[in-house]
Amino acid sequence: MNLNLCRNKRARSVAYTRRMEPSADDPLYRQAMDRTIYLLDRSMAPTQKIRAFNKGRAILDEVERVGGPGSVERLAQQGKLTGVDGIGSSISSVVCGAYGAGPTDYLDHLEASTTIAIGPGSQLRDALKGDCHSHSTWSDGGAELRAMALAAQALGHEYLVATDHSARLTVAHGLSVDRLAEQLVEIERLNDELAPFTILTGMEVDILDDGSLDLPDEWLARLDVVIGSVHHRIHQDAAHMTKRLVKAVANPHVDILGHCTNRKVMGNKRRPSNFDADYVFAACAQFDTAVEINCRPERQDPPVELLELALEWECRVSIDSDAHAPGQLEWVNYGCDKAASVGIEAEQVLNTRSAGDLVALLS
Ligand SMILES: [Zn+2]
Ligand SMILES: [Zn+2]
Repeated sequence: MNLNLCRNKRARSVAYTRRMEPSADDPLYRQAMDRTIYLLDRSMAPTQKIRAFNKGRAILDEVERVGGPGSVERLAQQGKLTGVDGIGSSISSVVCGAYGAGPTDYLDHLEASTTIAIGPGSQLRDALKGDCHSHSTWSDGGAELRAMALAAQALGHEYLVATDHSARLTVAHGLSVDRLAEQLVEIERLNDELAPFTILTGMEVDILDDGSLDLPDEWLARLDVVIGSVHHRIHQDAAHMTKRLVKAVANPHVDILGHCTNRKVMGNKRRPSNFDADYVFAACAQFDTAVEINCRPERQDPPVELLELALEWECRVSIDSDAHAPGQLEWVNYGCDKAASVGIEAEQVLNTRSAGDLVALLS
């Protein structure tokens, strides 16, 4: 998309309203920086790069706070942005582009080069009404829950399930019961603000070594959507892993089996877990636990042959972004294409349901 950001104020505001409604009232530098960070996340850019842009945004906010509204624009117009500590040429060019003080090449190129095409899965994508797996700053996500919800809404979703990690995953700041309770209060407040968009309550709960779950039953029962995922002892022997997964998916509170093989196919690759997939998928079908199509590019879990097996067992699937940042919510396109490639119909996909139907189905 080649949107000219600097013709006149009205045109700029319309362009950004269409692209990122959530921040349409923010100053232009912030909208441009938010959009850039969104696109970098969408393209899985290196963490350091995204961190530099996040830091740059905070620095510009400080410039605006100390110098008053319009300070960033003044520096952009005077070509002095790179004189600010922490603002390099890329950030400067994004901001100058937003104010018509330079070309918009950087952002235009990012828009075009990070677009996630959709192929055979386009009908499924159109049928999706929400996303059942997302993280926010409540655990290891990079954006606040509100920003995640607004981005999901901008993508046409009616709901987003907040599924931050459970307490065992300390490296990901997993939620204790007390923090989960706080999150539920925030969700209620956000739902009042964002209606008719809905944030459904949920958690990505660790499946413990014995197949039990890392959250007490009374809390599991309170959540709209529970994903059970293995995050440790991934390579234990197949017999043990099979029992562990079967026990977890048989738990009446578990609605979705998250990234079932735990393989990683990019970066620090990881071989999949070993388990008897017939047993596990038979249990998923029996206990009505959906098998997740995890859309993260480094996971692409389950592999196609396992997905086909899950379909033979007539399992339901859930096409989930597992987004840790707003731009990553677009990754559901990958899962829709994959689902379509093995002949999955909209009816078999959990998140083609409305929020109300989903909650009714899972309760
Ligand atoms: Zn996970
Ligand atoms: Zn996750």
